[in-house]
Amino acid sequence: MTAQPVLDAPVPRPTAVTAPLPVLGRDVEVPLVTGEKVPYAALDYAASAPALQRVWDDVAAYLPCYASVHRGAGYLSQLSTDLYEESRRTVAGFLDLPEDHQVVFTRGTTDSLNLLAAALPAGTRVFVFATEHHASLLPWRRAGLRPVYLPAPRSPRQAVAALEEALATAPQGPGLLCVTGASNVTGELWPVAELTGVAHRHGVRVVLDAAQLAPHRRVSVRELGVDWVALSGHKLYAPFGAGVLAGRADWLDAAEPYLAGGGASRTVDHRDAGTVAVEWHRGPARHEAGSPNVVGSYALASACRALSDAGPDALAAREEVLLGRLRAGLAEVPGVRVLSLFGEDHPRVGVLSFVVEGWNSSHFSAALSAEHGIGVRDGLFCAHPLVRSLLGDAGDAPARCGAPEPSPPGERSLNAVRVSFGAGTPEEHIERFLSAVRSLVGDGPRWNYRTEGGRCVPDGRR
Ligand code: PMP
Repeated sequence: MTAQPVLDAPVPRPTAVTAPLPVLGRDVEVPLVTGEKVPYAALDYAASAPALQRVWDDVAAYLPCYASVHRGAGYLSQLSTDLYEESRRTVAGFLDLPEDHQVVFTRGTTDSLNLLAAALPAGTRVFVFATEHHASLLPWRRAGLRPVYLPAPRSPRQAVAALEEALATAPQGPGLLCVTGASNVTGELWPVAELTGVAHRHGVRVVLDAAQLAPHRRVSVRELGVDWVALSGHKLYAPFGAGVLAGRADWLDAAEPYLAGGGASRTVDHRDAGTVAVEWHRGPARHEAGSPNVVGSYALASACRALSDAGPDALAAREEVLLGRLRAGLAEVPGVRVLSLFGEDHPRVGVLSFVVEGWNSSHFSAALSAEHGIGVRDGLFCAHPLVRSLLGDAGDAPARCGAPEPSPPGERSLNAVRVSFGAGTPEEHIERFLSAVRSLVGDGPRWNYRTEGGRCVPDGRR
């Protein structure tokens, strides 16, 4: 698949469902309130995806050879250094980075975007839609930057027009657009290539938050034209604590190191009393002070290899079939409203949030877990402005996350349920989820629930 503009609806054509990629935890059984045990249905991939079996195998094979990187003289240090640096090249290939771009290993998307925020030239205007995940929304609220929050668009065209309008009247100077590839709330794809085209015409650079996009679609920096990409290993089937900021080197090389310390410094001299002169590295090392997360970076690269080998198009096509079943199944359940910014038919990845008339979402999620062994998520998903606006909340009422009282019919919900899946999800999990939703909505829960420590927990048979 080539990364075409989203306005042209780049939905992969559904084909026959192939087998899921093997992931850890597929045989883990969890207890229900009844005492019975069932295989866990992990449908919270958007928060954290299970590790690919292949990633685990690679990590297990490497760990006996693990040793310090970069400055170790021993054989295994050299081997580890080679694997660490090769992991950078693997990620660069996975993201189809131009030759002169670099890969900095971080702790995850939040860390990557904060690193970029710390490296922006003074006075940079940062354009960001108010609908973004907090990791994309908040890092720019720091001294020296000028964040501009764009209003929630209701279509990709509106998003492009809103950016065009904001940039047309913006003063000269360095600028950055931060945009998400796929929403962690609705799963909807954003018109990244179009927005990048507009931004670049106005001399504004672009960072893509690919936390939710990269696990589901091929991301080509070359084709999208973005200047940086941020992603997290734990959403990419490699939950070993590493993430990536990949892209242009110039602003990063000109900035103070994100962390000051060993690894980032080339030479340090104590010349006169009270002064220490430091020469910092350029390139990725400048922002990777301290001992790096070699295992995490290696695991992330292993996931990139596994996804590339499986074929992003085949994975996306399989996911599209599961998504079709999920949407069709939910559409048949009375009172279920799926949240959407760009409209029902807009392409999305395997992430979907919904509310159920008469149900508190925390109650619904708790019942899915306790009575059916299904793990989803409820709340505002670290995207409070977006979810509140989709729920029709003007922001006046606090979210009652965890309160089990059902919302009276007709009253707007204060939080939502999110179901998300990916390459390791068997069809059976989607079917089990739909049948659980039908049963909860049709027959009600079989258990009572109460709030404890902000969570909704089972409280005896009804
Ligand atoms: N951006 C998006 C779109 C996300 O979904 C998330 C995680 N929910 C993040 C950023 C932050 O990722 P992390 O927690 O791995 O830093």
